[in-house]
Amino acid sequence: MDGIASPWAPLAPSTRRVALELLRHGPLARSELALRLGLSAASLTRLTKPLLGAGMLRESPDVLPTSGGRPLQPLDVDAGRQRFVGIKLTRDRAYGVLTDLRADILARRSVAIGEASPDRVVERLVSLIAELTPGAGPAAVGVGLGGAVRGFTHVRRAPFLGWREVALGRLVADATGYPSVISNDLEALTEAEHWFGDGRGVRNFAVLTVGAGVGGGLVVHDRLVAGPDAGLGLLGHFPLDPSGPACPEGHHGCADALLTTHGIRLQASLALGRTVSYEEALDLAEAGEPVAGRIVGIAARALGALVAAVANIAQPERILVTGEGVRLARAGEERVRDAVAGARVPGASPVDLRILDDDPTLWARGAASVAIQRVVLADLPPDAGAPASP
Ligand SMILES: [Zn+2]
Repeated sequence: MDGIASPWAPLAPSTRRVALELLRHGPLARSELALRLGLSAASLTRLTKPLLGAGMLRESPDVLPTSGGRPLQPLDVDAGRQRFVGIKLTRDRAYGVLTDLRADILARRSVAIGEASPDRVVERLVSLIAELTPGAGPAAVGVGLGGAVRGFTHVRRAPFLGWREVALGRLVADATGYPSVISNDLEALTEAEHWFGDGRGVRNFAVLTVGAGVGGGLVVHDRLVAGPDAGLGLLGHFPLDPSGPACPEGHHGCADALLTTHGIRLQASLALGRTVSYEEALDLAEAGEPVAGRIVGIAARALGALVAAVANIAQPERILVTGEGVRLARAGEERVRDAVAGARVPGASPVDLRILDDDPTLWARGAASVAIQRVVLADLPPDAGAPASP
């Protein structure tokens, strides 16, 4: 992102804080905005003037009623002024979205990924980006993938593509001319919820994903927790049942063995003596087939135990569960909630558990959100709310 012209980069931190507050919160009356930022009315007027002049802020068309006096016209960022592309890269397809500055989706497309060499994949990404942006180009492109990413540009490893040490950010930027921001897909999803989704306004929350793997994302004190092991899927190997089936790493009854789409498929196929897909296993359980019902029931309780562990250890105010295998959480929601409640003690805060429908554009929007963050936070000191560098 170095050397990229952005209307955000030249703003003084105090000015940018005003725009960021509106970007993340939504429209606010001037008095409320001043209160939230600890500013006097005069200071707020001084700080918003150049932003209004540059068109970055505008008067919101939604007028707030007041008890007497004149109605309040709130301020808002003009989210339509900048556009972003977000892409979720999987082995078979790349799913793309075009978003505005608030990660609201304006268009979506996908392309097939054939050969997985970096050059071929970048060719496909370039064609996807062109399809999404027939007019003016985006302010930045975000790409999210399952794997370990360093410095928002370098893929250290992405096993699903067979990649190690690929300078994907530079390749995409060189091929398109757009600033490119690469991120781990789960961190990206977590950031999208953090700034623009169900984690908005929540200082501590967790995201759990179930699907081909089990993933965990954590925001503590309003910042994403990011370490060198992000992208390894470590939460998937959390022990839940020592007498359970083994995962490919040999852990008995870890979350990966019990909860993943692969784990459920394997358990159901073994127990029923024929090949059963994940969806079929859940169909059978819902239809009352006892063997599938038992496997899905155990998996749902195990998911509840995992949610409870996250709740008790990290003490998030909210936990979001999603992922391509989220149907398990829906089908077994009562068991999940019972397991969570059973692991708490009287006096503990209730766990605000939310189950979100999964689709690839949710993840693509995540990649766009990280690109948005990099643009609007560019050059700000780290204590200004920037996500930690992976
Ligand atoms: Zn394991």
